[in-house]
Amino acid sequence: MVTQIQPTKNPAVVALDSFTTEATYLIDLEAGVCSCPHFQHRLINLEPTDPKRQAGCKHLQEAKKQQRFAKALAIARKLDDAKLLLGLQHYQAQGDLAVSGAIRCALHERKVAAAADAALRATFA
Ligand SMILES: [Zn+2]
Repeated sequence: MVTQIQPTKNPAVVALDSFTTEATYLIDLEAGVCSCPHFQHRLINLEPTDPKRQAGCKHLQEAKKQQRFAKALAIARKLDDAKLLLGLQHYQAQGDLAVSGAIRCALHERKVAAAADAALRATFA
């Protein structure tokens, strides 16, 4: 089972597999709607200002969380090491696991890339 959001042709819409069945649901992050039965039969009938509607179903919540991480990772990949380390301190102090986790991933990617580069240079030295 894939529990990672997948992009679709519409940039606002992502796909996410059900946590319990073989179904795959479409989640419109801009509109805040999901194609799952819980959303389509219950939450969609609530007023848009209703806290339960705003909280959304578990798929919408997961997709928002993953989208925030993905955005933070895309930004982190463009920053230099000094800014990443400052950002890591800042977001870690705030207890923001999504952003501090994305920064850690970006730093790890660089470490792996540097090791691969060093190994390649050693091969041809
Ligand atoms: Zn849903």
